[in-house]
Amino acid sequence: MFMAVHIPEQIGYLDEDRNFHSDPSNAPEILKLEPINEQVWVLGYAFAYRNPPLNDAIVFTFDLPKSINLKKVSKMRVSPNHYMGFCRGVERSIDTANSADEPPFHMLERLIHNNHVMRKLEEEKDIRMVSDLRDFDNGTLIISAHGAGPDVKRQAEKQGLKVIDTTCAVVTSVHKRVKSLNDQGYLVIIIGDKNHAEVKGIQAWAGGVVPIVTNVSEVDQIVVNKKGKMAVVSQTTQDLDIFKRIVTVLRSKWPNIEIFNTICKELHKRHLSLKQLSKENEVIIIIGDRGSANTHRLNDISKAINPNTYFIDNVSELDCRWFKDTRRVGIASGTSTPDWIIEEVKEELGRLGGS
Ligand code: SF4
Repeated sequence: MFMAVHIPEQIGYLDEDRNFHSDPSNAPEILKLEPINEQVWVLGYAFAYRNPPLNDAIVFTFDLPKSINLKKVSKMRVSPNHYMGFCRGVERSIDTANSADEPPFHMLERLIHNNHVMRKLEEEKDIRMVSDLRDFDNGTLIISAHGAGPDVKRQAEKQGLKVIDTTCAVVTSVHKRVKSLNDQGYLVIIIGDKNHAEVKGIQAWAGGVVPIVTNVSEVDQIVVNKKGKMAVVSQTTQDLDIFKRIVTVLRSKWPNIEIFNTICKELHKRHLSLKQLSKENEVIIIIGDRGSANTHRLNDISKAINPNTYFIDNVSELDCRWFKDTRRVGIASGTSTPDWIIEEVKEELGRLGGS
């Protein structure tokens, strides 16, 4: 049994005589106003929710148990991206690190770029972050999923340390590729972020000081001292469209440059499905660590399509104002975002009126 009324741009309550009152702050004590979010308000045994597309307020009144499942009246659809949570490389990296059995454990770089996962790992395995291999002389060095240059492993073994290499297989294949190119006399150009651990590792395998470009405008700054063969590879997290744009400019300058698309296929699929999700939804939530390059890439990709894209580290950063008058929300996560962080966000969106 319910009653619906249409009041443009207003939310209110029905009193015991079923008269509509638009100012809920005047609700009598017996109705106990309790905002669940901006769309659903519980008023004692009555509740109201707003219907944005019609610009109307629809007010229902029931004899409700307080435990009513508000999801049943929800109007906000929450759609996860097709690819969520850990990628295969991250999963394998964590499993490999967990199998390390010769403490103390040391890392030069975070195993993966997610602080929540790192904290858990550090508590469970007593892992210590160090800035220099010479800072310790026993135990195990764990190499991160992003990989490292060949000198790191060599030096660790020389110091008698056990080495657990969790480098993702996709990154390892890029190492092999650039090493082979360097051995054949190619100058390798890397498209990627100069400060990222993965790019530094690839650079080391490519022979040391090789050019790195982040965007088209940096191509002009590349200085090539000798004539010879040239090749280009990419950071595995790069967006294919950006890669193609930079390659076009490189080709116009050096027509014979050889192109190797080393973007991770699994991540590329995540990019493609996110592009679709960003078109189909009014608000997009990107979940991941602010130090995660691939999560930033997802954020950039989505924002270029949908300006209502928000990057959060975890559920505590959700802001209900983002969902005002929203009916469709898409969520996506970086490849190093654990499932439990994603689940908490989903639960909170459900509480805010999503289903
Ligand atoms: S995103 Fe791709 S390259 Fe990066 S860790 Fe995952 S599987 Fe490996």
